Amino acid sequence: MPPVYLDHAATTPLDPAVFDAMEPYLRAHFGNPSSVHALGRRARVAVEESRERVATCLGATPAEVVFTSGGTEADNLAIRGAMEAGRQHLITSAAEHEAVLRPAEALRDAGASVQILEPAAAGAVTPEQVETALAADGVDPARTLVSLMHANNEVGTLTDIEAIAEICHARGAVLHTDAVQTAGLLALDVDDLGVDMLSLSGHKFYGPKGVGALVVRGGVELSAQVRGGSQERDRRGGTENVAALVGLAAALERATDEAEARAAHLRTLQRRLIAGLRDALANGMFVLNTPDPDAASGPTAAPHIVSVAFPPHDGRALDGEMLLLNLDMDGVCASAGSACTSGALSPSHVLLACGLDRPTASAAVRFSLGKDTTAADVDRAAEALGGIAERMRG
Ligand code: PLP
Repeated sequence: MPPVYLDHAATTPLDPAVFDAMEPYLRAHFGNPSSVHALGRRARVAVEESRERVATCLGATPAEVVFTSGGTEADNLAIRGAMEAGRQHLITSAAEHEAVLRPAEALRDAGASVQILEPAAAGAVTPEQVETALAADGVDPARTLVSLMHANNEVGTLTDIEAIAEICHARGAVLHTDAVQTAGLLALDVDDLGVDMLSLSGHKFYGPKGVGALVVRGGVELSAQVRGGSQERDRRGGTENVAALVGLAAALERATDEAEARAAHLRTLQRRLIAGLRDALANGMFVLNTPDPDAASGPTAAPHIVSVAFPPHDGRALDGEMLLLNLDMDGVCASAGSACTSGALSPSHVLLACGLDRPTASAAVRFSLGKDTTAADVDRAAEALGGIAERMRG
């Protein structure tokens, strides 16, 4: 039996139609978009068409799309670029991806004014927290950059970006959102969200790896972080990865067209997986880190993630790595937290920021569903995890 892949928040397989769109640019149309001859012009057209298609999917203008090597570079460009261009204070959260947290910490270590908020619930910072942070002594909101993710990559919690954007704009602050987990999953529009900058990454929505974009709305000042040629309107130097940009645009277009149907499918499976885990695991044996989609109030979640953790039993903690290895042996690919932290022994910073104690945070499993996941897949995962957790508890 082939393994069940439930790690789509880490990466997704390349859509065959996306590969087909890319292939000519890996073979015949290999020109450098900066060359003036016919082959170069062919490549330039592909780059600019891709930019237009990405912009259209997100409600932006082509000039607002800066292509990058992925989500990490887009986040670094947003944060370092805006701070270098004159923002004096950065507000972010302890539950952000490392691609935001590491540059924020580096800026702080270099003497910049950086505030890292502790999320209120399930990993999301609330609009009230942002309002308070912007009103704090010594903070000039008109010179502040706020960077908060749209959906958390480990637990799936959605941040109320629309409300936070209103607060930021009323005070002149610039708002960046890392939408790597939602772009290509939900139909996003930068006007509706109200953000000034938005990061996305192709490999999260069936596009190629190593390509992404930062949308930078008009008027936002940004310093290039990769300096060299004048590509991307001087905001990111380097010869464009033409085939990857074509793939990014093709994948985002397909995802946007199918967003509603894909999200409905994912939500149905998310509910089924949560119900399956509740059936397979004894009451009180695990905690659900992802906000329950059927909860009457409280934070909401993206439809593709289900994260659970196992509190210690009779004083004994479960070993998270063993949980994953056993799942792998049972043919289920899942993750402990974000792909970047799995394999590390320390518990996930996100789960700690969500309020879990260290032993519980160290015994966590994240399932993330994709467009081709089936009901049988999630049933198999729930059953497998139920059996493994029972066995490991002895
Ligand atoms: N931000 C979030 C929320 C992510 O989930 C990831 C990848 O896991 C990244 C940023 C980094 O994106 P990339 O892998 O394209 O560098």
